[in-house]
Amino acid sequence: MNIILLGAPGSGKGTLSEFLCDKNNFTQLSTGDLFRENISSKTDLGLEAQKYMNEGKLVPDSVTNSMVEKYLESKNTNLIFDGFPRTDEQALALDQMLKNLNNQIDKVFYLEIDESVLLGRLTGRMICKICKRSYHKVNRKPLKEGICDFDNGELIVRPDDQEDKIKTRLEAYNTQTAPLIEFYKNKLIKIDADNCSPSELYDRVVSFIGV
Ligand code: ADP
Repeated sequence: MNIILLGAPGSGKGTLSEFLCDKNNFTQLSTGDLFRENISSKTDLGLEAQKYMNEGKLVPDSVTNSMVEKYLESKNTNLIFDGFPRTDEQALALDQMLKNLNNQIDKVFYLEIDESVLLGRLTGRMICKICKRSYHKVNRKPLKEGICDFDNGELIVRPDDQEDKIKTRLEAYNTQTAPLIEFYKNKLIKIDADNCSPSELYDRVVSFIGV
């Protein structure tokens, strides 16, 4: 089964993916993480993506789609698409890529959340440099300050988690990604992600997956 998680930055896609991978044998395909890995290892793709990411803008579709297409050559089942697709063009390309591999998207979970909650979440967010798990300075503190509970990795604040960049990201979401709710209406399951802890969100989602 392949699943898309659709939702604004900070809606909980990454944390939900973590739970689904740990407990239900899914693999997370996060285009944001793939870009950040490329930036760390200074590949051409990373250098190109960095220009857009640092501004909070979307990386061009052609760059993003070819990165995903390459990934899908090695794995295309039991995937959680986290942060992809983010535009109509990406959604159409993904349909075609999966069709070519005799595969498909089975379910799309839309994590619906109020924009005021998102700002609070993103401004306090820290991520582990090694495993990318995310924490929050108020809502999800690590056991030891600045250190990941899972692998002792250093916790860092993402460069695009600053208020002006967050606004640009939310704008990009509203104009370019939110229309995908209509695109996927036949497969869409809407989940109320307001006032919801990560494990409550997981329980809500998993009840629709049946695994
Ligand atoms: P968030 O969901 O919090 O915005 P991500 O890690 O998914 O975090 O994305 C971070 C940034 O990476 C985005 O703001 C964008 O610049 C880039 N990015 C990630 N996925 C895509 C995508 N599918 N298309 C274009 N740009 C993307």
